[in-house]
Amino acid sequence: MKTELLQLGAGQDAAIYRRAGELLREGSLVVIPTETVYGLAASIEREGALRSIYEVKGRPSDNPLIVHIAEPGMAARVAREVPKAAEALFKRFWPGPLTVVLPKRPEVSPIVSGGLDTVALRCPSSAAAREIIRAAGVPLAAPSANRSGRPSPTRAEHLREELAGRVPLIVDGGPCAVGVESTVVSLCGARPRLLRPGAVTLSQLRELLGPVDVDEAVTGELAAGSTVSAPGMKYRHYAPACPMTLYRGARAASVMKSELARLIGEGKKVGVICFDGEETLFPGAEVRSIGPRENHLVQAQRIFAVLRELDCGLDRILSVTPDPDGVGLAVYNRMLKAAGHDLRQTEEEEA
Ligand code: AMP
Ligand code: MG
Repeated sequence: MKTELLQLGAGQDAAIYRRAGELLREGSLVVIPTETVYGLAASIEREGALRSIYEVKGRPSDNPLIVHIAEPGMAARVAREVPKAAEALFKRFWPGPLTVVLPKRPEVSPIVSGGLDTVALRCPSSAAAREIIRAAGVPLAAPSANRSGRPSPTRAEHLREELAGRVPLIVDGGPCAVGVESTVVSLCGARPRLLRPGAVTLSQLRELLGPVDVDEAVTGELAAGSTVSAPGMKYRHYAPACPMTLYRGARAASVMKSELARLIGEGKKVGVICFDGEETLFPGAEVRSIGPRENHLVQAQRIFAVLRELDCGLDRILSVTPDPDGVGLAVYNRMLKAAGHDLRQTEEEEA
């Protein structure tokens, strides 16, 4: 299969949307831009295409897909019930980087929901994503377009090699504005529950909904065999090709600096992820900044590209961590997964 890469913004957008819509209706996969990360999309009415999503990604079949809709009104085509709390979330955060888990209509394929009787729904703010859904005329199931275990793609060029020959069309909408996957909140239990942190923050959800539980998978390491509310959370994600260690606390950079010296002394090739202004602290390392320490939005935009850049034959990666509040919680959560929860707490600085 030949993979076509079509770039938006060059006067051909309407034709590209039509082409994408046509392919999706016919049962092909199309890579689409969204504001969070690039998605590997299929019509929810094409079981063959839904199955190919799992094949192309190498994704376990019990890890359900998020259904993308062009406007909140389409939710009732997929969800059996749309409770008041969901309506309030749609009104406040849609279109945008928030996924809401609701009871599923029985006619929606179990391939979408990984066999669950619930379904995850999102109306993206990316105009391109919504135009493509409209052109397809049907909700689209779309997980992140990376192959399973690779960092999520935030630029079309991340996928050129990864998906070459596996999909007929990649629509290039430029770099993703948010950069981490959507916040996922479930409204299927006794209380709203945050399953995955993203750009819509926990405090924004609490402001609107009152108490919101936080799934253990957000910051904790799951015990083997434990059951999880967000099945995707149990898999090791975004794993770089070498071990990665995270450092927290005021002395993170200085502890990383001595660890770096030790590793370089052993002849190791080391990558360092730091904040802006710290780059010169780590001579001899492959250094990448994820942005200003206080700017979680920039960190979210950069984290996956940085992880991909550091997949370059290193022996170890040492990384700072953002404060796990606001959008920082989403960045922190993705880093924990990339590092397989190898987190070192450094002592606080003496006053
Ligand atoms: P991805 O689209 O690859 O970024 O992953 C989608 C995320 O949404 C995964 O963590 C899934 O486990 C989660 N998800 C999708 N559908 C459901 C559902 N019905 N219930 C709970 N979590 C879901
Ligand atoms: Mg993913």
